[in-house]
Amino acid sequence: MKNLIKFNDPHFIVDLMYARSNNMLSRPVYSEVGFGNQLYMHKDVAEKLLSLIPELEQMGCKMRICDAYRPPVAHMRCVEVVPIKGFFRPEYQTSNHCHGTAVDVCLTDLDGNNLAYPTEVDAYTPEFAAQVAEGKFEEFQAHLKKARHDYFDASPEAIQNREELKCLMETHGFESIPHEWWHYNLIGWQHYPVIEWE
Ligand SMILES: [Zn+2]
Repeated sequence: MKNLIKFNDPHFIVDLMYARSNNMLSRPVYSEVGFGNQLYMHKDVAEKLLSLIPELEQMGCKMRICDAYRPPVAHMRCVEVVPIKGFFRPEYQTSNHCHGTAVDVCLTDLDGNNLAYPTEVDAYTPEFAAQVAEGKFEEFQAHLKKARHDYFDASPEAIQNREELKCLMETHGFESIPHEWWHYNLIGWQHYPVIEWE
């Protein structure tokens, strides 16, 4: 577990979505593989997140962390459970979560209520999760367009929150990806190897 550290700070809410059942997998895969709701990440990611604290305090917000380091074995279970093209990368080597260099996040108020966004993190809804569990992917795949940064058919508040999060992350060492508003990679992620969970 070289360079991997356990993260814990009161400005952040640890809520790994794949450790609970209300997620797009409809099952607690992280718990099933013996990982559970443990928040680990590369130490360089932790350093960048901690640099957010003054701004979080100024905004009167906390940050909910829904995923960070993902053990390769957990990743392969996710791919097996939800074989939707583009949702989980088919090989763990290409998922930045397995390198400890990606986080899935949103902002909350000080009571831990998520701010408004165009979708939930992971574009989760119970209805789509139930469909996916039955092997029906079509409607969920259509819904995923709402997760994109170039989707603007949501409330002005949701769009503004998404863009403020992007601005916050991009000024603190992270880069966004076009198709998931909640996912951020550490800048320079190309130089970080996969980290095995032992
Ligand atoms: Zn992610």
